[in-house]
Amino acid sequence: MTENTLIAEKKTRMIPISIYFTDEDNYDDFIPDFPGVYENEDQEGPIFEDVIHEVTMQYLHKAFDRLEYLFESDPIHNISIGIDLMGLAGIEAIQTGGLNKDGKNNIMIGLMPNMIRAFLNKYWYQNSFLDPFYELNFDHELVHGLDTIILPLNPSFVNQKLPKEYFIKYLMKYRLEGLACLVTFLRGIQGEKSIVKSKEIFQSKIEKLLHCGMENKDDCEKFNEKVEDERNDPYEIGPMMMLHVIGVKAIRENDDTLLDLVKKGMRIEYVTDLEINRIIAAGLKIDLCEYISSLCEISWDERPFIEREKMKQMCQTVYYWELAPKDVNLSISASSKELEDLEHKLAGLNRSALSEDDYTLFEIEFNIDQLKKHINYHAECEDLYLKYLKIN
Ligand SMILES: [Zn+2]
Repeated sequence: MTENTLIAEKKTRMIPISIYFTDEDNYDDFIPDFPGVYENEDQEGPIFEDVIHEVTMQYLHKAFDRLEYLFESDPIHNISIGIDLMGLAGIEAIQTGGLNKDGKNNIMIGLMPNMIRAFLNKYWYQNSFLDPFYELNFDHELVHGLDTIILPLNPSFVNQKLPKEYFIKYLMKYRLEGLACLVTFLRGIQGEKSIVKSKEIFQSKIEKLLHCGMENKDDCEKFNEKVEDERNDPYEIGPMMMLHVIGVKAIRENDDTLLDLVKKGMRIEYVTDLEINRIIAAGLKIDLCEYISSLCEISWDERPFIEREKMKQMCQTVYYWELAPKDVNLSISASSKELEDLEHKLAGLNRSALSEDDYTLFEIEFNIDQLKKHINYHAECEDLYLKYLKIN
């Protein structure tokens, strides 16, 4: 078999990929801020867009090669990559997407300036050091794209309102980032390496949240803010939490091979690319309810990640918190009424009378979609608490 046929057989090579600039009209103003000399009115050189295309595909394919095992079942159907030369402070890359109505998983990965700069630096200056963190950012975002089991509890463009929704978002962040960060953590980059310290940090976070006063409406807002403030530690202790949960799964399913891999990961021993993929593949099957329950179960080190009683107390407290602002509770029941009205309006709309630049239909359909997402999210949260509280 030639190398070309081997490549052609790789599932990742079948995925359509498009690359575009997020700021289509003004991106060329920013080109001088990046390494290299490119063609312009008084300068010869390669065309900036061509170089960006080349380096992006080069590092994306490297990520594909590392992750190939996870793509065997065609889990991603389309990838668009947005090149953002202006970027957001403190963010290297982002991923958005989710299952379309037709069941297709089309994802978008946004590359930010630091990552682009690192790739271009290596392109122009061969002996420069390329921090593996930047290359592995592609793997990280692709793992997010593969992580579809959590989508019902992590819908895009839905804002949390109640403390119980904020708390779910908080735990979700550990589950999501903990899994995606395994691509770096298991290669020795990023994350708290001590099991004991990771547990202590998480337990003290929960303890702090438990001691937020939960008396009145202001406390409710304070709680939500506090939960939002803790946004960065999922990258620190998330990977170890995820390994704990995958270990619990391996024990439950008598999967000794997986358990051995998890132990190696938690003991910060060397693991191969394939072993990393096997661990991630197991993590991709864990939904949020299993995740929260498994944190309280004993793993191979004979300890839970957090005491069952503490987590239960936390979940009960936010779930039964009656003092959420009245307008928030009202807005949820109002959503159903609003949806009903909009659906009525849509049914009565005379489509043939609409001119081409009339966006009424588009607007109604968009608003219906958003309302459905919010109502559905609220119902998914309710289900999660009821299911969790029933089994714990
Ligand atoms: Zn991430």
